[in-house]
Amino acid sequence: MGAIDISESHKAVVDEKECVECGVCVRNAPCPVKAIHFNELEWPRILRRFFSDPNFSHSTTTKGMGRGTAEMKTNDVTGRYGRGEVGIGLELGRPSTGVWFKDIEKVTKHLAPLNIGYEEKNPLTVLLEDPDKGIFKEEVMGEKLLSTIVEFKVPIDKLLETLKYIKELDGKLDTVYSVFICTRAEKDGSLPNIDLLKHNGYWVSPNAKHNVGMGRPYFMNDSPAEVVERSC
Ligand code: SF4
Repeated sequence: MGAIDISESHKAVVDEKECVECGVCVRNAPCPVKAIHFNELEWPRILRRFFSDPNFSHSTTTKGMGRGTAEMKTNDVTGRYGRGEVGIGLELGRPSTGVWFKDIEKVTKHLAPLNIGYEEKNPLTVLLEDPDKGIFKEEVMGEKLLSTIVEFKVPIDKLLETLKYIKELDGKLDTVYSVFICTRAEKDGSLPNIDLLKHNGYWVSPNAKHNVGMGRPYFMNDSPAEVVERSC
């Protein structure tokens, strides 16, 4: 984050306001006298560590690790998005830029008229005071994160309208963002949203993730509503 300043006296000082508690400085530049170390953090500052340091899990929010949920990438196991549905991830912030909660809230407030249901297992969702209006709990608003992902799903016929809403955020956020979209491949291997997006002027970079042997589907008949428990 550029939070470490080394003055002319060669004393390093961490700007606590900008530091996101990612732990990179502790892990990558081990100090022989342990002058750089992890501090005990209180709520809500500890949110910075949960979202920014991959070695810590969200023990006070979702008990998981990371900036979003894993299920988006493992849709073929979880069946979170069925046919006719599109999962959308709006990734906010990057190393060196970060993202403040005030900018995350700008996004969730802006999307509120779409009446989207945020992904329950995403660690951001439990921090929303009013999910319908996209308002976060006041106590977290002073926190900064390395990055985070706003996750939700929409019917495929609402995809273009949703992307139009997201595009209106251009130039209004004090950070960078990217959008990723998850759909189930059709039985012939095609992806239903690719042509739709291309014909409407979007630059699309399709890719897939193969977790060979990592899990068997929890769902049947392509419908997430018919999820069944199976051992993996
Ligand atoms: S914890 Fe991360 S953000 Fe904070 S000073 Fe270290 S490297 Fe920079």
